[in-house]
Amino acid sequence: MTLWFATGNPHKREELAAILKGHRIHIPSQGGIPFEPEETGVTFLENALIKARALYRRVLAPVIADDSGLCVDALGGRPGIFSARYGSEGGKNLDAGERNALLLRELEFSSRRSARFVCAMVLLLQEDRFFVVQETLEGEIIRKGRGSGGFGYDPILYLPDRGCTVAELGEEEKNRISHRGKAGRFIGEILAAIPEEP
Ligand code: IMP
Repeated sequence: MTLWFATGNPHKREELAAILKGHRIHIPSQGGIPFEPEETGVTFLENALIKARALYRRVLAPVIADDSGLCVDALGGRPGIFSARYGSEGGKNLDAGERNALLLRELEFSSRRSARFVCAMVLLLQEDRFFVVQETLEGEIIRKGRGSGGFGYDPILYLPDRGCTVAELGEEEKNRISHRGKAGRFIGEILAAIPEEP
């Protein structure tokens, strides 16, 4: 099936294409579609649905959208849905390295390190026909970032059972255990279960 993925992030497209092998995944920039919907929801799920509906209205074809982020327990779940914009209040525009450094500073004196990536994913087939999944990847915020794979907060989320950060995992391994990988595979199963339209 040809699926539109409501993201401007090519890393995410690659991850999803690897998960949903056998499906063609397009992102708005490939179709020359300007796509920057306002994420006004207060949960990952609401924002995923907002993105899915906004793109569906443009392409009128099946859409996948996700909303994801890092939730840190010692920060009451922050940055959460604001993960992409964390530290950018007041007009600054931090890159991923600067965001990670800021988060490590915020947690400098905290012994509570538990955190998780969360991914809400929506498969929207028609305006009012959709399926949702939300998955997590549990870990701990490391004291000094490690690794160069992946993107975003990967270098600072440490996986105690593996003894490495997410950025030290290979691409395939990250997909196997990640919040987006797990959600994407459930979406793949839903796609496989949808009956052909007569
Ligand atoms: P979204 O594009 O609105 O879902 O924003 C997601 C933001 O959360 C990204 O820009 C990253 O900062 C962070 N994030 C989500 N998933 C991951 C991941 O797998 N690794 C690292 N950071 C992630």
